[in-house]
Amino acid sequence: MGYDPQNIFAKILRGEIPCDKVFENEHALAFKDIQPKAPVHVLIIPKGAYLSSSDFSEKASAEEIAGFMRAIHAVADKTGVIGEGYRLIANTGAHGLQEVPHFHVHLVGGKPLGAMLPSAR
Ligand code: 5GP
Repeated sequence: MGYDPQNIFAKILRGEIPCDKVFENEHALAFKDIQPKAPVHVLIIPKGAYLSSSDFSEKASAEEIAGFMRAIHAVADKTGVIGEGYRLIANTGAHGLQEVPHFHVHLVGGKPLGAMLPSAR
């Protein structure tokens, strides 16, 4: 399956759909999740057309990867979660329950987040 340029995050990147922007650099955009699961819940997405974490880490340039990781830090800094800690989540593919087929990392924090997963089975 190829990249679908009509996915919702591609539309946000093109400015066709609004977002509540938190941070932007040359290679990444960060905005608040529309259905927050924690007091801080920000999505960080690359500006390039990458389907998933695997697609991005395999194909993105070193500059894109660096810009993306710097954006994660900038969001953590800007939202004030570095001191108390936070969690990064990259749902990938069917088993990961990825809903939007444009690579994104969720940054969640602002309260104790509990166990990472309910069970190992
Ligand atoms: P996934 O399950 O793919 O990791 O997460 C997709 C996330 O995108 C969900 O947390 C969902 O709330 C968020 N989302 C879906 N549509 C929109 C939208 O139009 N705007 C924003 N800001 N977030 C969205």
